[in-house]
Amino acid sequence: MKITANNPNRKSWIKVDENSDFPIQNIPFGVFITKDDIITIGTRIGDFAIDLGAFHQLGYFNGIPLTDDIFLQDNLNDFIADGRKTWRLVRNRIADVFDVTNGSLRDNAVHKDKVIFRMEDVEMLLPVAVGDYTDFYASKEHATNVGSLFRDPENALFPNWLQIPIGYHGRSSSIIPSGTPIRRPVGQSKPNEGETTPNFGPSKLLDFELEMAFITTDSNNLGDRIPIEDTEEYIFGLVQFNDWSARDIQGWEYVPLGPFLGKNFASTISPWIVTLDALEPFRVENPKQVYKPLPYLKQEGKGSYDIKLQVGIQPENGEETVIANSNFKYMYWTMAQQLAHHTVNGCNVRSGDMMGSGTISGPTKDSYGSMLELTWRGQNPVQLNDGTTRKFINDNDTVIMRAHCKNDNVRIGFGDCVGKVLPVK
Ligand code: MN
Repeated sequence: MKITANNPNRKSWIKVDENSDFPIQNIPFGVFITKDDIITIGTRIGDFAIDLGAFHQLGYFNGIPLTDDIFLQDNLNDFIADGRKTWRLVRNRIADVFDVTNGSLRDNAVHKDKVIFRMEDVEMLLPVAVGDYTDFYASKEHATNVGSLFRDPENALFPNWLQIPIGYHGRSSSIIPSGTPIRRPVGQSKPNEGETTPNFGPSKLLDFELEMAFITTDSNNLGDRIPIEDTEEYIFGLVQFNDWSARDIQGWEYVPLGPFLGKNFASTISPWIVTLDALEPFRVENPKQVYKPLPYLKQEGKGSYDIKLQVGIQPENGEETVIANSNFKYMYWTMAQQLAHHTVNGCNVRSGDMMGSGTISGPTKDSYGSMLELTWRGQNPVQLNDGTTRKFINDNDTVIMRAHCKNDNVRIGFGDCVGKVLPVK
C-alpha cells in the first residue's frame, strides 16, 4: 500500500512553522490529557494536538476497519497490534482530511472544536504501556569509548561485540514521558583504595545516554523467530530516549551480570511516536560491518536512518548550552538486526515493547552521546555558556535532547525529550 501521507508537496490547512518537527508529513501518534481530564490517543500537526478518538467518533475514519474505542484509550498498544496495514490507512486518511484542499473538517467549526486542541492546552502522557524494555549497545564508537574507560583501550571491544547486537533487559516501570523530573539516585559505589566497605550515598557521576528507541507490535509466537527481511513489518515507530545512568553505581555493580540500579531509576522518552513509515524518505546505508554477519543477521538494502541528534544542558535559571551533536546513522547494528537477533532464540516480542538503541556516539569528540565520553570520565569538563563547567550532571540541571530528519522538502522531528534532575530527598 502506498504511503500517500508522505507526499512532500502536501500542505495542511493548519498553519505549520517551517522549523516545526510536526508538518503534515509526520503524523506521529501519542496520548494526551485535556483540561477536561479526557485522555485520548492523538496526533499532532504544527502546534496543535488532534484528538483521534473524537475524529473517529465523528466518522472521519469511515471505511477503515477500526473498533469504536480503538483511540479512546490511555495507550496505543491495541492500535499498534492492528498492524502495519491499519497504521498506513490511518495516517493516509489523517493526511487527506487535513490537506489544504479538503474542506470536510476545515469548514466544520463544531467538529473542529471537538477534535483540535492547542498543544499548550494538553499534557502529554506515555504513549504505550511498555511491557518489556530492552536496551542495546549498538554504537561502535560508544562501545569502544566505554571499553577504554572501564577496562583497557587495547581491548576495548570484546570479540563478541562485532558478531552480536549486544543488549540487556531493562526495566519498564521507570520509563517516563518528557518533562517528568527525575531524582538523583542513591546507591553503592566502589570502596576507596584499601577499604572493603563500599561507598554509599547520592550518585556523584549522574549521566545521560543519547539514544533512540523503537516500539514493536506483536511479532512472533513463543518459539518462533522473525526472519530479518520481515522485521520492519513489526516496528511501529521511534521515540527519542534518554537512558539516565549513574556511572559510579554502574561501575561497581555491573560485573558479572551487567546494568541494574545504575540504570533503572529513570528512563525518559519523547511522547510522540514517529512511525517508521514517516522516516522512510530518510533511509541511509548503515556503517560497513567489520565481519560478514551470520546469515540470520544479514540485511539487504539501506538499514539505517539519517536522524540528527542533539543534547543540551540548561542550568537552573540559565540558558541552554548544546554540548553534543550526533546522528542515528552511526549505529553499527541496525534495528532490523536487533529485532532478528532478539527473536532468534524464540523469544516473543509484543505490542508496546520498547528497544533502546544504546548510546549513539559519532566519530568525533563533539558527537559523543554521554558525559562519560564527552568529558572522558571527568578529565576534560565541558564549559557551559554561563561560565560554569560540568563533569557530569548537577542537581537542578535540565538535560534537553532533540532529534529530527531534514531533506530539501520536509523536516520530520520528534519534539523534545527533557528531564530535570532534582536533588535526593
Ligand atoms: Mn543505554
